[in-house]
Amino acid sequence: MDGIGIVGGGIAGLHLALFLQKNSVPVTVYAERKPDEVRNARLLNTAAHWSNTRARERELNVNFWDDVHTPTRCFHFYVGLPKPLWFRGDHEQPGICIDQRVILPRLLEEFESRGGNAVYGQVQATDLDGLSEKHDLIVVSSGRGSLTEIFPRIPEFSPYTRPQRLITTGLYDGIRYTDPPGVIFGASPGHGEIFVLPYYTLDGPVATLFFEAVPGGGLEHLMQVRYDDDPKRFEATMLQALKDHFPVVLDYVDKAKFKVHRPLDILQGSIIPTVRRAYARLANGRYVMAIGDVHVVNDPLLGQGSNAASHAAFVMGNAILEDGLTYDERFCRQTEAKMWAFVSDVTEWNNYMMQVPLPMNAVQMLLVASQVKPVADAFATNFAAPRGNWNVLATPERTAAFLHKLGIEPPVLAPAEPAGAG
Ligand SMILES: Cc1cc2nc3c(=O)[nH]c(=O)nc-3n(C[C@H](O)[C@H](O)[C@H](O)COP(=O)(O)OP(=O)(O)OC[C@H]3O[C@@H](n4cnc5c(N)ncnc54)[C@H](O)[C@@H]3O)c2cc1C
Repeated sequence: MDGIGIVGGGIAGLHLALFLQKNSVPVTVYAERKPDEVRNARLLNTAAHWSNTRARERELNVNFWDDVHTPTRCFHFYVGLPKPLWFRGDHEQPGICIDQRVILPRLLEEFESRGGNAVYGQVQATDLDGLSEKHDLIVVSSGRGSLTEIFPRIPEFSPYTRPQRLITTGLYDGIRYTDPPGVIFGASPGHGEIFVLPYYTLDGPVATLFFEAVPGGGLEHLMQVRYDDDPKRFEATMLQALKDHFPVVLDYVDKAKFKVHRPLDILQGSIIPTVRRAYARLANGRYVMAIGDVHVVNDPLLGQGSNAASHAAFVMGNAILEDGLTYDERFCRQTEAKMWAFVSDVTEWNNYMMQVPLPMNAVQMLLVASQVKPVADAFATNFAAPRGNWNVLATPERTAAFLHKLGIEPPVLAPAEPAGAG
């Protein structure tokens, strides 16, 4: 048997491959695309890596961009209430925002240059039986594509059957970074959110405008505008959306220089948040496991998917090192439980914050955070430790107890005040 086979060359698959390689476990990566094909592809996502993932990148010795790009030290939060909130929360440890078309090809090349075996081409579901007989274990990390179908959806953990946001994200020239450098995370109650990320691409620094539109809200039309049909109209529509919903962002835009960085730097679509069983039994009786988006895919509202995928890779890697006797149902169940222990907090927090209107206790937390800097700092820092945020938001009682501990009375919201930041 030929060690571990990993299907997919995203963050989940490559962090697992590098982890196993570092620990001398034989591993083969089945990657759909060669490094240069990924470099030349359409924008894959606009993901940020928080400090938890950066620590894992250091552990794998793949923190190649620490000295070439501005780390993000904080969130600049904007909430478009009648009296808008505009405040800062500092991260304890900085994050970094790098195009995955920069990261993934480099990781794959690094894996190969360290002696790793990569096989290129798309794996079909019908190939899995054969691959499972070649390897001790097949781990599927192929993201949101068709291989997800073999892992059953778990309805009780997947409350939505439709997308809750419509995504329009892109890379733009002519947007100045904030000082201190950080991510602008804005909410326009009832309409949607925006992430403005200081992004590093193959051409150097740019910025993202990543809109999350509530279906039926005032940002929904962004999804219908196509850059390829009329670039100028597309760019003008994005600027108008900033003016109408996130006016603070306009302070960072130089309208004379504002434009989409390259035509391939736009991504539009939507995601149905879904939790799947992390293992499946093949026709030949062998088990395959799922990590990353195949196992749990969330809407990118709270910027957690890559970070959770990297976490899952390490959980899977450690499970292989610690057990690894045989990859039976017991191994699968136990490893799934370890992955779920982390990603359940991410999923529940993410699904909670996507509600429209936003639950009252979350609005109260934002109001307090806008006035009490340590609360804003903790909220920002806990993007790298999601349980910390979910622990205080999961129920109104938890939020009240958290505020009580700090000697703060939960703010009373006026009935006319829109109780929604989403
Ligand atoms: C707009 C947007 C913004 C986001 N922002 C954030 C953020 O700020 N922070 C964050 O942490 N996450 C964010 N995410 C989520 C994050 O991008 C994903 O959760 C993460 O990329 C999942 O990693 P993965 O390795 O599981 O899957 P993927 O990144 O999808 O990788 C899957 C890989 O498998 C390959 N593959 C697919 N099918 C096959 C096949 N049949 N055979 C072989 N290979 C195959 C694909 O080519 C790909 O390389 C965002 C996502 C989007 C869309």
